Amino acid sequence: MENLTKLLQTRFGFQSFRPGQEAALKHLLAQESVLAVLPTGAGKTLIYQMYGTVTNRPVIIVSPLLSLMMDQVERMQAGGEKRVVAFNSQQNWAERQRALEQLAQYRFIFVSPESLANPDLVRQLSQINPGLFVIDEAHCISQWAVDFRPDYLGLGQHWQTLGQPQLLLLTATASPQIQTDILQKLQVHDVARVILDVDRPNIFLTEQTLATDTDKQAFLVDFFQHAAGPAIIYFSSKKMANQTAATLQEETNLNVAAYHADLDTETRFKVQHQFMDDQLQIICATSAFGMGIDKANVRVIIHYHLPQDLESYLQEIGRAGRDGKQSLALLLYTPGDETLASNLIDHSLPTEVTLSMYKQHPQQLGEQTRKLIQYYERHQVGHDQMLALFQAERKRKEAALLKVVQYVLAPSCRREQLLNNFA
Ligand code: ADP
Repeated sequence: MENLTKLLQTRFGFQSFRPGQEAALKHLLAQESVLAVLPTGAGKTLIYQMYGTVTNRPVIIVSPLLSLMMDQVERMQAGGEKRVVAFNSQQNWAERQRALEQLAQYRFIFVSPESLANPDLVRQLSQINPGLFVIDEAHCISQWAVDFRPDYLGLGQHWQTLGQPQLLLLTATASPQIQTDILQKLQVHDVARVILDVDRPNIFLTEQTLATDTDKQAFLVDFFQHAAGPAIIYFSSKKMANQTAATLQEETNLNVAAYHADLDTETRFKVQHQFMDDQLQIICATSAFGMGIDKANVRVIIHYHLPQDLESYLQEIGRAGRDGKQSLALLLYTPGDETLASNLIDHSLPTEVTLSMYKQHPQQLGEQTRKLIQYYERHQVGHDQMLALFQAERKRKEAALLKVVQYVLAPSCRREQLLNNFA
């Protein structure tokens, strides 16, 4: 459509569409819902922004991360779009009241999944007759995704209450299994899929087997005495992330910090910004680091421990080389690492003991576990059925881990193996 390109150039200042953008937009303008699997940095925002501009109908965008949301709002405003508002925990009462009073005047309304838990907000949103309901990072709906968010499970219900406007489901996670799960959880059947190739030829994939943990540490010190970064090293243990950050800070000329869920919000925010600004060269992180990080020049991604599954692996290494320049994804492996990963799976899922603890001392459980159990309770899933579900989930995670192990031990082309998993 010539007109769309013209609008892209005159209103948004871009010469041409990036892969996937136009296809998704055309489906939306033909009144279809869309599931778009596009890598981070592909320009997903532009799709719904153009939809709102062309149709002049309200667009509601669910975004899981506060920093990401504020960033998007700022960018839209900087681009000249003034009819933007965000409902999240940052907003004070007065701001919220003002936003609610003027709701019909906004074209782009960002909401956190938590704020949608307020039925009043959903009801008021339904009254402005939204044209499009966007779910950013839509894989968070699926329990099979690394970033699974129990709050996302309510979105199907909210979408119904909103009068089932068209959906735009955005994610960078490509696995067909997760796609199917997203659609099932939302109970939508008719969607157009726009799926972009997940291959990133500029990322060199390699693996290094080392006999012990001490060897891994020595390897990293040696590596970073020669390599500059920016680099992210992923760990499945917070303690190990802290420890390695301290060692690398000591033994190399680079600035290093740890990043994980035990750090307070302020520290995490600081670390993230220092990394973005190149004041830090290495981040020793758990999988908590990454969603919403859009840094173009990350040169190295190292996995100190095995990733949970190939989906997470692909997503995490995808944070390297967004500028298209040569980058490295390196997986460190010590025989026996799979036992650690398997134990983590065991601990992450509720058991008989967890369920009885939930009844007596719910505050002793992690927030994620508590919300998961609450979700099933709200849906009248009984005790035994819940245990069976968790057991099935355990099996599925074990199978996914096995694929990671097979991948690590694979003598054939890693890229081919990794991509075959998503074909
Ligand atoms: P995503 O949400 O897919 O990670 P964003 O929507 O944040 O990506 O866009 C990433 C960057 O790409 C932004 O700086 C945006 O301005 C830019 N961008 C989006 N579409 C285009 C385009 N068609 N041409 C050039 N740059 C674009």
